Amino acid sequence: MPELPEVETVRAILKKRIVGKTIKDIIVQYGKIIKNQSPEEFAANLRGARLTDISRHGKYLIFIFDKAILVSHLRMEGKYLLSAANPYSKHEHVVFVFTDGSELRYHDTRKFGTMHLFMTTDLAAVLASKPLAKVGLEPFDEHLTPEYLSQWVTKSNRPVKSFLLDQTIIGGLGNIYVDEVLFLSRIHPAARVADLDKTSLEKLIENTRVVLTKAIAYGGTTVKSFLATDEVSGRFQNYLLVHTRTECPSCHHPVSKIRIAGRGTYYCEYCQKLPEDAGQP
Ligand SMILES: [Zn+2]
Repeated sequence: MPELPEVETVRAILKKRIVGKTIKDIIVQYGKIIKNQSPEEFAANLRGARLTDISRHGKYLIFIFDKAILVSHLRMEGKYLLSAANPYSKHEHVVFVFTDGSELRYHDTRKFGTMHLFMTTDLAAVLASKPLAKVGLEPFDEHLTPEYLSQWVTKSNRPVKSFLLDQTIIGGLGNIYVDEVLFLSRIHPAARVADLDKTSLEKLIENTRVVLTKAIAYGGTTVKSFLATDEVSGRFQNYLLVHTRTECPSCHHPVSKIRIAGRGTYYCEYCQKLPEDAGQP
């Protein structure tokens, strides 16, 4: 599943390659990807639109046109292909044909991805509408503070792992990166979030930014599941500290694997103790 660093990598590549282009036509092969308009309305509304920027909020890509804003979520297997050479495959559900003859194709074998088109250029209004309204703060948002997290903590008895995976609190943190953040913070993934003190919350925020910054710099991790252009390498998988690892890079004990919130969770039981165990011999 593409996570924030992968979506950010896709955003940066697409921005470089297609901003400034104008849509000549839209070919919709599978209309259910488009959630708030019919395929005919969607195509008619985008014809003649010029792409002025590409933004991101959490794991959502935001295509900003001169007369509309398109919000796209890749979900499990969605990817954007930049190719006009080959015939359309059955997995290429929405094709954006530009006036220069190039194409952007949305490819999704699982068909779980979504697109919402808004007939406005007011990004703030789109961010306040469904589906973006439910996405929590961006990890790099200055409003993400221990005080912000505390508001949610008081209502939460959950393990910290599922707390960090909750997209309504922080938008864009997924399974791989939460394991890495917890390892760097030396916090057990099953620790109850209500038991964490302010220092721990500060560490979580700081390490979230450290891990995501590094992952973005390396082009993300899960390269197979997103964009098939040769510009993307997904080299962060070579730098994972605990997720899918067998030996802790810090103490060299074996890494443990458990399930939390249905997700495979890697941690070091020596470096990441539960709060009630901490300080005991
Ligand atoms: Zn360890």
